[in-house]
Amino acid sequence: MNASTTPAMGCRLVIVGGGFSGACLAIQLVRGSVRPLAITIIDPAERVGRGLAYGAVDPDHRLNAPTFSHSLLPEDAWHLSRWCLEQGILQQDPQAMRPDGAAYIRRSDYGRYLEQTLRDHAHWPATGSTIRHCRDTAVGFGLPGEPLAVQTAAGDCLPADQVFVATGNPLPRLQPPFPPALAGHPRIIENPLDTARLSGIDPQARVLLVGAGLTSLDVLSSLLRRDHRGPVEVVSRRGLRPRSQAPVAPVLARAQSLQAIAAMPAAMALDRVHGLPAAWLSAAATPPDVRRWLRALRLRIREVQAGGGAWYQAFDDIRDSVWQLWPTLPVAQKRRFIGRLRTWYDVHRFRAPPQNEEMVEAACAQGRVLFGAARLRAVTVSPDGEAIEVTMRRRGDGDDVTETYDAVINCTGLDPVAGLAGNPFLSSLVQGGWIRRDPCGLGFEADAACRAVGRDGVARAMLRLVGPPTVGSFGDPIGAVFISLQIHRMLAEVFGELTGGG
Ligand SMILES: Cc1cc2nc3c(=O)[nH]c(=O)nc-3n(C[C@H](O)[C@H](O)[C@H](O)COP(=O)(O)OP(=O)(O)OC[C@H]3O[C@@H](n4cnc5c(N)ncnc54)[C@H](O)[C@@H]3O)c2cc1C
Repeated sequence: MNASTTPAMGCRLVIVGGGFSGACLAIQLVRGSVRPLAITIIDPAERVGRGLAYGAVDPDHRLNAPTFSHSLLPEDAWHLSRWCLEQGILQQDPQAMRPDGAAYIRRSDYGRYLEQTLRDHAHWPATGSTIRHCRDTAVGFGLPGEPLAVQTAAGDCLPADQVFVATGNPLPRLQPPFPPALAGHPRIIENPLDTARLSGIDPQARVLLVGAGLTSLDVLSSLLRRDHRGPVEVVSRRGLRPRSQAPVAPVLARAQSLQAIAAMPAAMALDRVHGLPAAWLSAAATPPDVRRWLRALRLRIREVQAGGGAWYQAFDDIRDSVWQLWPTLPVAQKRRFIGRLRTWYDVHRFRAPPQNEEMVEAACAQGRVLFGAARLRAVTVSPDGEAIEVTMRRRGDGDDVTETYDAVINCTGLDPVAGLAGNPFLSSLVQGGWIRRDPCGLGFEADAACRAVGRDGVARAMLRLVGPPTVGSFGDPIGAVFISLQIHRMLAEVFGELTGGG
């Protein structure tokens, strides 16, 4: 991965960010190109491919969907499942496999899959393409009129024919009403992915988790595994929690050997997501109107249930078509959706890994964990400096109450734009007018082929955005399979550009 390359003109590609998106992009580029490509992934991490989500070290932190939904390769939905069989993952981690035949592997194992698959593509004999890792931070982008290049913090200047922004999610940050000054307080954990900090919590401590999504399930699992005995409370504004997983279809459950997998449809995810929206959804798609879609969804759920099915089937039709539907919505409707419906969408969309759900449910039944709906009003350090005082209004109560905790953990959602100021590369792209925020303010604007839209409204092929930074443009490019498919859609145009430019 660190071998130096001699790039052919027209084929020097720089990817900023080496998490899932950067790795998946590099792999798909190498596999799809008929020409040799010299790909450089810039990322400060020692090991490239894992990123924020799959650098997890806690064995209780698992993928939130079965293995067949996490393949790196859109044309081969079973790539990860085969890797797991070949590596003996299910023997090493017997809890991964569920009775219905779906495997929810550890995110740390998935990180290993990403890293290893990236390494396997670093020197591609069929074309001579290479992938190298530049262990550095991107800080600047070529100036107008000069050759395209990415500058790094160490002072390197990497010339490029195309640049891809795969900077993912910034580290979680405290949201109001937390005063920013409390970010470094020893009793407040701003970054819930910091497992070392979690393991430093006194087992008798009174703990508050703010946010009740999948991150809170990870944190609770870590605490419960360490036999945390003190009271744990989880609050979120609406009190909504991630739904359970759908039972896996019997045909998919049978794919538990290399032989059985060989008989499965390889392009399953591609076919499901890339086709036209389901007929019931197509009928409701125009004019684009969230309330209309919601009415159609409710009707469809009733139909499915009448036939003995469950809500998942109808909901998943919407999830799989969001990339097509979201861009058609007027901005005002997008904003209304974000304000009123996004949390509701998220709890149905991002479902709990069953292993974590079971741990947490058992703890709730024992009274060790309490979930509630409350709006935080203020967070302060107690006068003696030994605790955190949180003032909140619980749903249904007219008055504010102030509770005292020994530790408070931030489990609120990720926000790709929140880290803008802390990311020198994104800041320089914004300042240079190369990218601009999307109208909803969720991320950065990209056109249908992921070309970055600049301050002047022009989409430029030499700079493309993939993954979470495009959430405002595509609605839901968050999960691994959806990022992989987003990249797949974009590549035909990228290869066209390379051929034209070469
Ligand atoms: C805790 C967690 C669990 C998740 N679990 C799942 C799951 O089970 N299944 C699923 O489908 N999805 C899951 N997701 C969704 C996840 O967002 C995507 O699957 C995917 O990991 C996003 O990858 P990424 O590469 O875009 O972002 P990231 O993983 O955030 O990686 C971005 C990389 O860019 C680098 N970078 C940023 N700025 C610069 C710069 N200026 N110069 C150089 N490098 C830079 C960072 O160092 C980082 O390594 C999870 C997300 C999180 C946060």
